[in-house]
Amino acid sequence: MENNFYTIFKRIIRECNYDNTYKMAWAKALVEISLEIEEDKYLVDIDLKTIAQKYIKYYWNQTIYFDLIQGSNLLKTPVILQKVKQLIEEYYKYIGNRKPVRFERIEYFIKENLQDEYKKCIEDIAKTLKADVSWRFTFIDGKNHEEIYKYSKEENKITIDIKNLIILKENSEDLFDLINYRWGLILETFNSSPRINRKVKIIDEQEVKRNSLSKFRKYLDEENPNKKCFICDKSIEEKEISIDHVIPWSYLYSDDLWNLVYVHKSCNSSKSNVIPTKNDIDKLKVRNENLLRKLQDNNIKGKEVDELRLAIEKDYVNKFWIGCKS
Ligand SMILES: [Zn+2]
Repeated sequence: MENNFYTIFKRIIRECNYDNTYKMAWAKALVEISLEIEEDKYLVDIDLKTIAQKYIKYYWNQTIYFDLIQGSNLLKTPVILQKVKQLIEEYYKYIGNRKPVRFERIEYFIKENLQDEYKKCIEDIAKTLKADVSWRFTFIDGKNHEEIYKYSKEENKITIDIKNLIILKENSEDLFDLINYRWGLILETFNSSPRINRKVKIIDEQEVKRNSLSKFRKYLDEENPNKKCFICDKSIEEKEISIDHVIPWSYLYSDDLWNLVYVHKSCNSSKSNVIPTKNDIDKLKVRNENLLRKLQDNNIKGKEVDELRLAIEKDYVNKFWIGCKS
């Protein structure tokens, strides 16, 4: 017979409601902590602040790369996400640019340079965990399952049996998959962006890879041999050339010929992640039609060309634009 703790833990994940992703972050934090703990006590105490630090990491990475919405009330951002977004803004202000970076890579930097802001963020999140998540997580079928863990409100900690932590540890791979899958399902109910599950999954990996776009140059050159900048219309010198996603990469999480244009490096960095205007979109549609015609005239074939043709037929530019505006 399957262990009761494990059965209930999985049911909590599976049956979690769609209001927000707090419970998923909580479950994920517990599994992650189970991998880090090396204690031989029967009972292990986990401080809410330790869990809060995991929340910062998850929401930081999902926000800084993909700006995912984490709650069903679109008028009110979940408090924890607000706090993490604030920390991201403080970080950007401190370093003076808005280049996305994984939390794990700058965690030490933040502890050193934004010590007070980081501490405050952890405390604020721990407060919300105390009020909304810690006690609610174990509540299923109309009763509180203390066999999952005991929550001590006065001491701001949970106490979990080492046997159960070991179960989480031994099943961590499956549990991460289950949590991510469920997290993705919740996100899909209030995020219109494509590839939600891949976005959630990639957050667990070491690097969020941005592929080189240089393979697209041979196609772009067919339509734009003088390399006129999509933004300012002036010719671009070789060392100033950059390839830009018109509909932001953070939204699409994909590199597609139909969405790529030449821009000046300086023009590009000034508009990263900005939603394109109607004018940009009309311009891109005309560009795509011209590009496809040139490629066909010159008998250039390949996957990229087929995808461009499909994108024009299905009007991806407009569809994804409408999606990313909403
Ligand atoms: Zn330019």
